Amino acid sequence: MRKSIEDDLKAIGAGLDVGVLPTVFNRGVIRPETSTVALKSSGQEKAYAGQQSTRSTTRPWERTAGGQGTPGQSGASDSGAPFVQPGLRFRYAEGVGECRDAYPGLLSFPQEKQMWLFAESDLIEGFGRRAAFAVQLPYTTKKPVRAWGFWTTAVSKSWIGPRHTNFPDGSICAFEPRDRTWVPGQSLITLLDLYSLWAVRHLYLEKYGKWPGRQSVPIAAERLLELCDDEFCGCEYPLGTYARCCKPSDQENTTGSDLLNFAMNTRRPPVEVIRFVWNPTSPPNRRGQTIRQT
Ligand SMILES: [Zn+2]
Repeated sequence: MRKSIEDDLKAIGAGLDVGVLPTVFNRGVIRPETSTVALKSSGQEKAYAGQQSTRSTTRPWERTAGGQGTPGQSGASDSGAPFVQPGLRFRYAEGVGECRDAYPGLLSFPQEKQMWLFAESDLIEGFGRRAAFAVQLPYTTKKPVRAWGFWTTAVSKSWIGPRHTNFPDGSICAFEPRDRTWVPGQSLITLLDLYSLWAVRHLYLEKYGKWPGRQSVPIAAERLLELCDDEFCGCEYPLGTYARCCKPSDQENTTGSDLLNFAMNTRRPPVEVIRFVWNPTSPPNRRGQTIRQT
């Protein structure tokens, strides 16, 4: 890794550790934030609360009316939402057009009940390895938006995980849905920026063996098996690093079978998604494995 690339990555991680987000530029390029604008510190800030990537001034961050409902929801609760909400379909079609500069190679595949996207992020200029994302956007708030990340080079595609991915499908866990960092119908640029940030944190983890910044890891067995001592604890109200927060009590309260049960739960992307990432010309089959909920 070239020195300047390494410096950028180091600075991005150091920023995240003190709650300063890097800036996301066009093509998903991420540079360390040099200003000293820090995230709000409420003392109760959860994992990804406030983890909203910032945009360069040349492409202002697009905000929608957060918490005011989203197009297509018309104020209805999720349980009453129709299977296809025309407002969501319209909003995503419009959102793809808005991505033209931000994610120039973006491919979209509208289907009857959902849309698939294929997007790539450069992450760090000159690095030579990019992140590709397959994104499934249902036209209903009844089903979750899901996405998968892959490292791509000229000759390879490999799944990004298992840290901060969901069981069992290995989809990206880039923010807590309950924090409403992003909700269905909001900007696709924002969503792809959040995935780009998630990928650059994986890059940092790979290089330095440590997840940078706050994280949500509510299961004790998962913390024991995956968190390093000097990472932020993943509990709801972390008191600093894992070693200083929950590790001692996790060790005391977690049994061998808890650890085994967790370790046996593998995370893996569906075959259809892998095929799509290798050949993004036709999206996964609607009735394929990717639809199955467990
Ligand atoms: Zn803790």
